[in-house]
Amino acid sequence: MIVSKFGGTSVGSYEAMSRSANIIVDNPKRNWVVISATSGTTNHLLRLSSLPLNTDEGNGLLDQISRRHLDIASQCSFKKEAIKAVEECMRNLSAHLSKQQTSKDHSETQWVDTLLAFGEILSTQLFAWVLREKELNVQLKWAGDFICTDSRFGLAAVNLEVTYAKLQQFLTANEGFVSYQKPGNVLLTQGFIGADVQGRTTTLGRGGSDFSAALFAEALGAECLEIWTDVAGVYTTDPRVVSTAHAIDEISFDEAAELSIFGGKVLHPAMVKPVRRANIPVRVASSMEPELPGTNIVTNPLNRPVVRTLSVRKEQTLMTLHSLEMLHQPGFLAKVFSILSEHRISVDLVTTSEVSVSLTLDTAHKASNKVELSEAVLRALNDFCDVEVEYNLALVAVIGNALNQTLGISGQLFSTLKEYNIRLVSHGASANNVCFLVEESDAEAVVQTLHQSFIG
Ligand code: ASP
Ligand code: MG
Repeated sequence: MIVSKFGGTSVGSYEAMSRSANIIVDNPKRNWVVISATSGTTNHLLRLSSLPLNTDEGNGLLDQISRRHLDIASQCSFKKEAIKAVEECMRNLSAHLSKQQTSKDHSETQWVDTLLAFGEILSTQLFAWVLREKELNVQLKWAGDFICTDSRFGLAAVNLEVTYAKLQQFLTANEGFVSYQKPGNVLLTQGFIGADVQGRTTTLGRGGSDFSAALFAEALGAECLEIWTDVAGVYTTDPRVVSTAHAIDEISFDEAAELSIFGGKVLHPAMVKPVRRANIPVRVASSMEPELPGTNIVTNPLNRPVVRTLSVRKEQTLMTLHSLEMLHQPGFLAKVFSILSEHRISVDLVTTSEVSVSLTLDTAHKASNKVELSEAVLRALNDFCDVEVEYNLALVAVIGNALNQTLGISGQLFSTLKEYNIRLVSHGASANNVCFLVEESDAEAVVQTLHQSFIG
């Protein structure tokens, strides 16, 4: 069995859905299908969640969501059924909006998760009809019936034991439905969505559909997990920055994990763990050009270059703390980190000297979890050290193999970057990456220079 996940652009229009459906038809092993909301819909719903009822903007967004999905429905052979499904979803969505929660407590985040889930509900409802149009026998299942989570709405943690038990139960009860012996049967479900023990809808964090798909692949013992997206695999770097960047044939789980963390937008960071654990190869490919080989993520790639890929994360903040107290004082760093953790600030890179420590923080405007360096944090830190904050930096990650054990690589990297001011370096902790913090305005040139010297 192959678990196939289609991202938002791969189901973003009728043509895209139809192309993705053809991919499923092409291989009868592709019988467990996980999809995202249509591209942009989760952003629209998230914006809606922050607007009061009945604003022009809110009504405009609802209208856009409705028209987008009705447009897909109206091109489907099962037009009547598909339109009816969209209309019903839109009615439920409006009803949910009118129950808007305003308090900043648990019930509000719970309400937002239920709202966001409409994106995946709409896309799966429609995709089911597009698959039926291709004469596939589709069973559409609510992901919350499988993916069991805690109640941290917005970023719920999955209970693997319960989730895997539920999936096993389903397989036993539906014996043969999703097996190779029954070509044409397809189980379709939502990515990103789970439910807590009380059955309340939760979400796994933005981009979480990859993670859902990886969990399904592990639990079902899939022979492969496919991530269908709008690019032809994992690239050596962003082709918009370096025109000679190209798709990589094969990459290890370790490299893919680093890449997903350091800005490669193709994969969600949490997805690597389940597939690596279960040793399930992953194929990343483009649903627009499915004949291209894409990238295989495997445990042991044949080729392990020292430098495989480069990625950039912008909007980085560097915080430097100085204190003479740091000298031979146990507990100084513990104090710093406990203050940051109290304010839910997550630190990426750290370098220390005798009397100072520098930390990088990701302040990028991701739709949610933006790091805020509030007055309160700065005051708490200022109490026992001097704090300096620099903005507009970028983190360039060099990802590859044995970077901490390859003679001369540091020298080569530094001499390649001799024209640039490097604010901070992180090297040695990981075999798979070396990170440089540079001015945001230098980031693209740094990547171009490195790509030319190390990848070509
Ligand atoms: N639709 C969700 C999002 O946009 C999940 C996903 O696409 O992976 O974050
Ligand atoms: Mg994604």
